[in-house]
Amino acid sequence: MAFQRDPVTRHLGRCHFRRHSHAMSKARITKESEDRFTCDVLVAGGGPAGLLAALALSKTGLEITVCAPDFKEPVQDKRTTALMQGSVKFLETLDIWDVLKADAAPLNVMRLVDRTSYRLKAPTVDFRADELGPEPFGWNIPNAPLVTTLRNIIATLCNITIIDHPIQSVDTSATSVSVDVENGLRGSASLIVAADGRNSLCRRRSGIQVNSWSYPQTAIVACFDHSQAHDNVSTEFHFDAGPLTVVPLPGRRSSLVWIETPEQAANLRALNSDEFAERLEQETDGSLGRISKVTTRSSFPITGLTARRFSAARTLLVGEAAHVIPPIGAQGLNLGFRDVALAYDLVKLAIEEQRDPGGIRVTDDFDRQRRRDVLPRTVAVDILNRSLFQQFLPLQGARGLGLTMLEHIGPLRRFMMRQGIGPRMGVP
Ligand SMILES: Cc1cc2nc3c(=O)[nH]c(=O)nc-3n(C[C@H](O)[C@H](O)[C@H](O)COP(=O)(O)OP(=O)(O)OC[C@H]3O[C@@H](n4cnc5c(N)ncnc54)[C@H](O)[C@@H]3O)c2cc1C
Repeated sequence: MAFQRDPVTRHLGRCHFRRHSHAMSKARITKESEDRFTCDVLVAGGGPAGLLAALALSKTGLEITVCAPDFKEPVQDKRTTALMQGSVKFLETLDIWDVLKADAAPLNVMRLVDRTSYRLKAPTVDFRADELGPEPFGWNIPNAPLVTTLRNIIATLCNITIIDHPIQSVDTSATSVSVDVENGLRGSASLIVAADGRNSLCRRRSGIQVNSWSYPQTAIVACFDHSQAHDNVSTEFHFDAGPLTVVPLPGRRSSLVWIETPEQAANLRALNSDEFAERLEQETDGSLGRISKVTTRSSFPITGLTARRFSAARTLLVGEAAHVIPPIGAQGLNLGFRDVALAYDLVKLAIEEQRDPGGIRVTDDFDRQRRRDVLPRTVAVDILNRSLFQQFLPLQGARGLGLTMLEHIGPLRRFMMRQGIGPRMGVP
């Protein structure tokens, strides 16, 4: 089916909006009823993956509606995200990176330090970005300014409509996808991009099954000041229960992801701020000097999830709706951004070839191409994580041997660094 847009609605979509309520910042209301809307692409979810999807897809000129229930709430997420080169290039292409850069710190060195009690220990390994070229591996940015900036830009774009309510039901027909929104609106589109998180309603309604699992681990997250410069080195200290990773932020400040057993994580959260800072100083070998001003600590149980398909009829899964992996090697949201980049490329190509942007070629190509990236990375991160907490000698031996080889064999180390950064996305 050739994809054609109705000239009347297209005209309405070009900023000639009628205001409906606070709930909908820019709504294109069809003549049928004020409770109905149509658009080209619906995006479910106002996390970083959903917001980036709305923004990127709006560059195709299509009419986008994003259902982002928390759009007007202050961002509560205390995490930071290490965005690898490919993600940063994507943000540059979308003209967003210049705004975000002030809140981010470059990552020039990734250091792995073995602090396990195991007999088969690994050497300390430094992965240096300058072995690959002049650019850093990536940049670390707090999620709050990342999400806030994406929201602010979206709010200015006249082909994006924001509905700050959740989707309650999704129905797909041969020609369109329809949603019921909690505020009573009913909308339809050619395609839905499901970025509604790990418990995705859109994924369930499209009949996609998942494989999910959990680890005996909890991550504690916080940011803190330190007296010594971090020199843009991110260090992962490997302990028996999991890694403790400190990641540079601008100035003498870093973020922390400390993976422990759930019991130990509860104990760490119960410490007062000074006690926690002192403990962190010990565990990081004093490498950052005196630690102070630790922010409120939040915790995340470590789990994994992979959707059995990354698309269904008129549906693409992006971000944690498609995959959840432990926060090791900073892969999670980078995968999510690559989901978005591919969605953009496929939809743009469909429009250029006058095809349906929600048609089977888009959804099938998306599933096939995302599998090649997501599945091997999920397995690699799973093995790396298990090699720490599982008392299985051959696995620990393989980890020690692997890291020794990486320390001594330059081409192997550079290959792994390129894999860690992620494939260079076919940026638009
Ligand atoms: C401790 C920790 C550290 C991490 N560090 C990194 C890192 O350094 N680098 C990296 O790449 N990744 C990292 N990650 C992973 C990264 O944080 C996640 O991949 C990312 O936050 C997921 O974003 P998302 O937009 O897919 O999902 P979410 O942020 O969960 O957003 C989902 C959105 O969907 C909305 N929603 C839910 N239901 C509905 C509905 N019915 N209708 C409409 N909307 C709905 C929610 O309100 C929310 O806005 C880390 C993860 C953890 C736990």
